[in-house]
Amino acid sequence: MNKEIFQRLVRIVGPRNVLSSPEDLHAYSVDASLQYRAIPSLVVRPGATEEVQEIIALANREKIPVVPRGAGTNFVGGVVPVRGEIVLDLTRMNKILEISRTDLRCDAEPGVFHGDLETELGKFGLFWPPDPGSSESCTIGGVLSTNAGGQVRHRSRLGPRSQGGATNRRDDQDRCEDAQEQCRL
Ligand SMILES: Cc1cc2nc3c(=O)[nH]c(=O)nc-3n(C[C@H](O)[C@H](O)[C@H](O)COP(=O)(O)OP(=O)(O)OC[C@H]3O[C@@H](n4cnc5c(N)ncnc54)[C@H](O)[C@@H]3O)c2cc1C
Repeated sequence: MNKEIFQRLVRIVGPRNVLSSPEDLHAYSVDASLQYRAIPSLVVRPGATEEVQEIIALANREKIPVVPRGAGTNFVGGVVPVRGEIVLDLTRMNKILEISRTDLRCDAEPGVFHGDLETELGKFGLFWPPDPGSSESCTIGGVLSTNAGGQVRHRSRLGPRSQGGATNRRDDQDRCEDAQEQCRL
């Protein structure tokens, strides 16, 4: 990686959040697929939306490919930088900004762990239908990107809403029971 671009990235996210040691790059060379391996040119760890915007603008100007990374739990090599990309590690962006019980809406940063979001939603009597087995270790950015699902999602038949809205557990159970009733009829 060109030294000037390295310095510009350091100015955006700070020196601790641009990783370039062989050990760090090695750690980002795989995901849960364990079938693919490639060393990134750098790893950048933004902490805010504005930083992501600046990184992407710089990469775009300099024609440097970027691969976003959540927790790396996918099984298909989705975050393996096979073209020597910059890896954009989004796990520092892990704030739940707002949960609205009234309109079943939640605003959160992409690096929030699915399980943490579920815990917070539970306090409002809500849940979010995607329910991957990796809930405790995957991010909501990764869940949305891969359209991950699980037992709750299949049971609740709320696919489209699962892309953005939280769901009232009571309503969901009612819908599920209605659907089961219809199946029996
Ligand atoms: C033990 C285990 C159980 C699992 N169970 C299930 C299951 O039940 N159902 C299921 O569907 N999957 C399951 N998975 C697969 C995986 O956990 C899910 O696909 C998960 O949603 C990926 O999230 P992640 O944060 O690890 O994403 P990553 O693996 O980091 O990324 C996955 C893809 O999303 C992209 N991406 C990540 N974050 C962003 C972002 N913020 N913006 C844009 N693109 C982004 C990446 O570039 C990559 O292409 C399981 C995995 C494990 C290890």
